[in-house]
Amino acid sequence: MIRHSKPAIDKKDIQATIKVFNSGLLSSSTVVRRLELSMAKFLGIKAALATNSGTSALHLALISLGLGRKDEVIIPSYVCTAVLNAINYVGAKPVVCDIEQDSFNLSHDAVKKNISKKTAVIILPHMFGLPASIGQFLEYDIPIIEDCAQALGATYKGKMVGSFGNLSIFSFYATKVITTLGYGGMVLSDSKKLITKIRNLIDYDERKDYIIRYNYNMSEPQAAFGLSQLDKLPEFIEKRIKIAGFYNENLYDAGLELPLFEDGAIFYRYVVCTKGKADKFIKKLNVLGIEAKKPVFKPLHRYLGLNKKNFPTTEYAFNSAVSLPIYPSLRAEEANFIVRSVKKTCENLL
Ligand SMILES: *Cc1c(COP(=O)(O)O)cnc(C)c1O
Repeated sequence: MIRHSKPAIDKKDIQATIKVFNSGLLSSSTVVRRLELSMAKFLGIKAALATNSGTSALHLALISLGLGRKDEVIIPSYVCTAVLNAINYVGAKPVVCDIEQDSFNLSHDAVKKNISKKTAVIILPHMFGLPASIGQFLEYDIPIIEDCAQALGATYKGKMVGSFGNLSIFSFYATKVITTLGYGGMVLSDSKKLITKIRNLIDYDERKDYIIRYNYNMSEPQAAFGLSQLDKLPEFIEKRIKIAGFYNENLYDAGLELPLFEDGAIFYRYVVCTKGKADKFIKKLNVLGIEAKKPVFKPLHRYLGLNKKNFPTTEYAFNSAVSLPIYPSLRAEEANFIVRSVKKTCENLL
């Protein structure tokens, strides 16, 4: 079976991590600080704080903006439940919006219709490594958290995604663009004040005052592993784009809708649309030995029992979108086999 996603781990990652084990310091944070500085520098953002997941980074970002029960948070429906969880942690109200047809990203028209006096934050994910059109969301006087969990290294108009919003979050989960030993995350901002506020919230031990604090810290071995992965990010992205280019070249006449091939995209996912036949398409590919998947397991409006009629594009994506294997360690023979199998499946199904 060709796996849908896979972390790219090599000896360097392992050796860098062993070094930290040998130091005997697992929770002190010199290596974690180094990862924070490296990410901030790479992205061109002033301040960064490492966490144990993307979800906790998002939770902290929402707390830092003072979010609470009276506030509404705008999010797309076509995203993982982690985003919804973070909003519910602070007790705010999620306002779920439809997406754009071609990019799978949050629809500006839908956001416009859903903005109210209570809108306190817009969370803007860059889905599947394709930058959202950030510019139009910056027009409002509403704080933006960029969710870059799937888009480390992607650029929008030549500038790193994550550097536009008031805050941005990243995930280093096992199968994300880079990983910090399976779980991890980061929150960044040009406001050093916000990041200092967040640091105070996770620095929980031996404090003179008591407020609710959060043990969301990253460990030293995780950070060492992450630094080694970050070194290879340009190479990872190059490989992803190369595979996406190969798929695009070979699948253009297969009868599928292919993903946008835009400057700045990093192809965290390669998502094709199958005219409402995602489930059947996936089953056929699975039988042929390819682990294809729905890129979003179930849209949020379906979990929340909202009217499907208000989410036509998300519904379309849910029924049509199929994510094919794409990752730096995918071999040329495997990519070839995937192309042949997808073509065969198209002939049978479409
Ligand atoms: C993975 C992901 C998250 C959550 O990150 P975790 O590290 O799994 O908590 C949030 N948003 C998006 C868009 C993601 O893909």
